[in-house]
Amino acid sequence: MGAEWVLVLNCGSSSVKLALVDPASGERRVTGLAERVGTSGATVHLCRDGVEDTSVPEDPSSRGALTHLMASLDDGERDSLVGVGHRVVHGGSRFSASVAVDDAILADLHSLVDLAPLHMPANLLGIETARDALPGLAQVAVFDTAFHQTMPPVAYRYAVPRDWYDEHHVRRYGFHGTSHRFVSARAAEVLGRDVEDLRLVVLHLGNGCSAAAVRGGESIDTTMGLTPLEGLVMGTRSGDVDPGLLGYVARRLDLDVEGVVDALNTRSGLLALSGISNDMRTVCEAAEQGSPDARLAVDVFCYRAAKAVGALAVALGGLDAVVLTGGIGEHSAEVRRGILSHLGVLGLHEDPSANAEHGRGTSGRVSREDHPVALVVPTDEELLIARDTAHLAAQAVGEPVR
Ligand code: AMP
Repeated sequence: MGAEWVLVLNCGSSSVKLALVDPASGERRVTGLAERVGTSGATVHLCRDGVEDTSVPEDPSSRGALTHLMASLDDGERDSLVGVGHRVVHGGSRFSASVAVDDAILADLHSLVDLAPLHMPANLLGIETARDALPGLAQVAVFDTAFHQTMPPVAYRYAVPRDWYDEHHVRRYGFHGTSHRFVSARAAEVLGRDVEDLRLVVLHLGNGCSAAAVRGGESIDTTMGLTPLEGLVMGTRSGDVDPGLLGYVARRLDLDVEGVVDALNTRSGLLALSGISNDMRTVCEAAEQGSPDARLAVDVFCYRAAKAVGALAVALGGLDAVVLTGGIGEHSAEVRRGILSHLGVLGLHEDPSANAEHGRGTSGRVSREDHPVALVVPTDEELLIARDTAHLAAQAVGEPVR
């Protein structure tokens, strides 16, 4: 194995994901997942050449689980690494692209923790642990927010007191940027067009959901904001609500603001509407079997996503394609149909046989007309992280960028 692989790490508060990715082909040699980290039930799963192995880390903390995962790599795999790519949730206004991490950058990243206190500490722990375990390798931070740094002020400013923005960084940032960036570029390839010439609305529909308006390959607006709570209905997140709800519910239920925000993040969305699950597969099955609450959950989800497409088509000044991705966007023909059923006004109509055929790993058109068009395009955030990492690692050691 030549020295061509990238270790991609996604360190969250309760799980750690690892993948050994070939940035050229996207091939995965090793994938790993540590679950329930920080609890006595912490478990590590590793898959190498199709063979799965499950073990229990000696130290169940995030650092312990990550160290255990990295120690599972063999010498050949370690020697093959050109760098380590880290998914980092928030780059604030400071980072508009991926960056090789040195001490100064690490200090900058620490200064952003307040913007995402649930995720950033785990992301930073990942960088620091990997730096210790694999000294000498480029550590690259790839931000969920960076792609949206091209949004103009008209899209990113909230109409809130000025000092909130000036002194406390309160503005819209947007998330899922790695996915929106990857999928926009792939959609242009699928359409045989230059991304420079396209006006796209990308719907990333997974456990978290967001839509982005991408013009000429750049994000000009998106549905998530200061935090990943704004915008579309998600698995357990409410998406947009009246901010006046916070005070009302806090008073009625005798909660503090953090308690209400926690409920909007963890006990809302599909889970709350359906009363059954945050998992769209389960909700769709229950709707099929006649549950009115599950049906309403699917309907609200699709309606809100379609309304966002309309709003973002206005932001774009026209629409060439709607691109669906993420676990739900890629796999649920029913949700795609539900969203498209609202978009006739934009000239989009489902092609039922194409819609039934695509997804499940293939890209393709799911609407009837040629323009505008609705496409399914599988996302691959790990591959984009691997490519950015290989690119920056090559620059760091003065090699030509491939
Ligand atoms: P992600 O966060 O991108 O992995 O997406 C996770 C979401 O995709 C969950 O809500 C899953 O239920 C959903 N999903 C995956 N496969 C399907 C499917 N065949 N039908 C409906 N939803 C699906």
